[in-house]
Amino acid sequence: MINKIGSFSFAAFVNRVKEFHGFSAPGVILGGLLVDAALKNLPAGILYDALCETDKCLPDAVQLLTPCTIGNGWLRIRPWGRFALALYDKQTGAGFRTVLDPERLEAFPEIKDWYYKLKPKEETDPGQLLEAIREGGAGLCRIQKIQIQPALLIREHRGKRVICPQCREAYPDNGNGACPACRGGAKDVYRQ
Ligand SMILES: [Zn+2]
Repeated sequence: MINKIGSFSFAAFVNRVKEFHGFSAPGVILGGLLVDAALKNLPAGILYDALCETDKCLPDAVQLLTPCTIGNGWLRIRPWGRFALALYDKQTGAGFRTVLDPERLEAFPEIKDWYYKLKPKEETDPGQLLEAIREGGAGLCRIQKIQIQPALLIREHRGKRVICPQCREAYPDNGNGACPACRGGAKDVYRQ
C-alpha cells in the first residue's frame, strides 16, 4: 500500500496526472510508483538524470515528479517498450533502475489484465485498477543498482546555428550543408 507518490498524496497525484496527461492514465500512475521507488534509493541532495525505457506514459511520471524533462535534456528516452526507468547521478552515473515486475503482477489480477491487455478496455473498472495500483505500491517494482555508460554522461553541445540553404530556416550546424528536415526527414512527416 502506498499513500504518497513523491510529495503528492496518492489522490493528488491522480489529479495531477489528469491535468498533465489528459486523463488519469494507469500507466502514468504506475510510472509514479517506479519514479518514487527510484527516488527513495538515491542519496539525498545529488543532481540526477533520468532514462526511460519506453516512450509511453512513464516519461510523464518522471516529468511530474522530478526536475528531469525532455526539454531540459535531463530525461532521455530509449523506446524499447520496457516499463522501466533509471535515475542516476549526473556526475558519476551511479544510480538505480526500477521496473514493473511481471512476477509481482500475478498477485494483482486487475493490473495484470490491464497491462497485458487481457480484457477489453470497457470491462476494466478504472477505480478498481487505481485502487489495485495503490495497494501494490512499491511492491510492484523491482529495483537494481546500475551504472550508466560514461558516454551518456557527456552533454551533447550543439553547433552554432546557421541558415539552411533549402528551407531558409535556422538549425544547428552539423556540417552536412542542409538541415536534417531538408535532408529527408520532412518528407516522412509532411505530405507535399
Ligand atoms: Zn532546411
